[in-house]
Amino acid sequence: MRYAETGFNLEIDLSRGNIERVETDPRDTELYLGGLGTSAKLLWDRVPPEVEPFSPDNLLIFGTGLLCGTPATGCNRTIVSTISPQTRLMAFSMMGGFWAPELKYAGYDKVVLRGQSPHLVYIWINNDKVEIRDAAHLQGKGAVETAELIREELKEPKAQVAAIGLAGENRVYFASIEQGRSSASRGGIGAVMGDKRVKAVVVRGTRDVNVARPAEYMQLCNEVLQYIKWRNENPVPGVMPILAGLGSPQEMKVHDEKWHTENFMWGNSRTRRKDFWNEEVAREWMETLDSMRRRLISCFNCPMTCGATIAPPGRPTYMMKCFSKLTYTMAAMSDLEFGLGIAQSATEYGVDGFSAPQVMAFAVELYENGILTDADLPGMPSDNEERFYWLLDRIVRREGIGDVLANGTYWAAKQIGKGAEAYAHNNIKKIEQLPLKLSMLNPIYFLMYATGEKINITQIEGQFPQAPFVTMEEREAFVQDWFQVPDDKFKQYFLDWEPRGEKSMPFYPTVQMCCDIVDWQERMHYVDDALGMCAGLSSFPLKPPYHIHNYPKFISAGTGIDMDEEKLTQATKRYRTLVRAINIRRGMRRKDEKPPEDHWKKRFPDLEKELLDTYYQLKGWNNQGIPTKESLHELGLDYVFEDFEKREIYSDMGDTPSQETSTEKEKEV
Ligand code: SF4
Repeated sequence: MRYAETGFNLEIDLSRGNIERVETDPRDTELYLGGLGTSAKLLWDRVPPEVEPFSPDNLLIFGTGLLCGTPATGCNRTIVSTISPQTRLMAFSMMGGFWAPELKYAGYDKVVLRGQSPHLVYIWINNDKVEIRDAAHLQGKGAVETAELIREELKEPKAQVAAIGLAGENRVYFASIEQGRSSASRGGIGAVMGDKRVKAVVVRGTRDVNVARPAEYMQLCNEVLQYIKWRNENPVPGVMPILAGLGSPQEMKVHDEKWHTENFMWGNSRTRRKDFWNEEVAREWMETLDSMRRRLISCFNCPMTCGATIAPPGRPTYMMKCFSKLTYTMAAMSDLEFGLGIAQSATEYGVDGFSAPQVMAFAVELYENGILTDADLPGMPSDNEERFYWLLDRIVRREGIGDVLANGTYWAAKQIGKGAEAYAHNNIKKIEQLPLKLSMLNPIYFLMYATGEKINITQIEGQFPQAPFVTMEEREAFVQDWFQVPDDKFKQYFLDWEPRGEKSMPFYPTVQMCCDIVDWQERMHYVDDALGMCAGLSSFPLKPPYHIHNYPKFISAGTGIDMDEEKLTQATKRYRTLVRAINIRRGMRRKDEKPPEDHWKKRFPDLEKELLDTYYQLKGWNNQGIPTKESLHELGLDYVFEDFEKREIYSDMGDTPSQETSTEKEKEV
């Protein structure tokens, strides 16, 4: 008997129309847990580096987290994994909502799509009955509209629908997969779904998921719920509102946007508006949000209500998620009313709320600087806000200049030439990043940005405070009930951290301490991504209800696998290393591991080199970031070493350019 997981994947070959229910190996669960871990194993085994992102041989895996579908609060993430057309590396994007638990209740842990359908289809999973259905009538429909039409067609209002919009159908490199109040957005996974000609994956499940030791498991769940309640009533003092509590990094309850609007960059990630937030803006934005927000909503089995339904005037109601609340507003240098309006179109089209606004702002900046001209943008309106709607339409249809911009700023700049590359200034590993430009190098963030392969909006931050507290009294109060730390040394790191002087940034925390902190933060994100836990209740906030000490208990009582902190750390290290191995095999090297040049004004090249060298060492990677023979052996990944040897990967010292050919044929503008 398998507990917490179902023990079966659904394998669908779209080229042949073949559907199989395949039993999985329980030993893989012990080694790689579930979700991201076991999906990384599938990608390693079955997608060699020669496979192009838009190839029938690429896999698109909808993986549920190991504990999804159990009563663990907030455990509802679907992890969608594939090879990204934008980065040409592994993409693994999470979505919340309701889809993953529903798939578990239908009797499957993953849906693995391979091949390519000859025409547009959708997949209907209704417990044991699985069909590939024609979707010709859904061609060109919005992602939200598609979900509604499918539910009506199937007469199944409770079906959960993960769908793409026009952007996915047209293989826009930053196309998302939309689902209820959530989306899996980063890395262009919606484009891979479009390439496979799959409009939606629809699921309804009515079975049970068993847990190994129910009474013990329920006790753990109750403790978490009590802690959430207590934390909601007792926010962490001394930090910004979104870090003081729990939940999504951008709750729809929050009105005070002073921190984001004054610290994040506007336009094409260049303009800081230090005095933007004043009483008048605060009042206007509050009125806007209050007038459009219909109700607050949660994901499956979570009391946090960090999403909302939004009804912009004259537009359909949609579900707003996370940071898209501000990204369009700030890219267009506009206001919240504009941002909430265009986000409705963007949700229907299915685009990443981080990349899409930056791509449009990039186009506007190129136009303002004469690199793109009226001849490239025939018919573009003169009004700023209308321009953004116009550009979004062109991009998702791949019309005219939109066909180039649809590949994201990195590839578009290469295609446009004429100096456009200098305007694609905010990328890491070829994908648009947080629009932040700061003054002094932050060594912790340097490491996260440089080495991160998750490439989500929060990178791998969380757990350790983002800045030192001013007084020792505040610091002592903070560490007093900081039981989430994996080791008490982190408390000392924080106690000694000063805003100014010898023990301040960028030389304190020391290189070794920074490496320890980043390693801890990353570990927690990777645990979440294997278990299916929302980062908002675990790896992202300070002092979360889930942590390294109670997770092993959840896994043991949930799955029956004998788990402790050491084994969990080792398992996480194993599949984290496997993610890196997939990317190394696809050409990623040290030269790709760098934050944007202009991310900080004051850079410290020697310190940055030492940080990277030391972190690579801690992770068991050589100076190119390639996992060593010894570290692979220690993790039981000798098969990775053998493959690296065969491909002569250890002799590539990073002088061969990593895959520099866009998936789309480069075109002259
Ligand atoms: S904390 Fe917010 S984003 Fe996370 S599961 Fe709960 S409602 Fe969803």
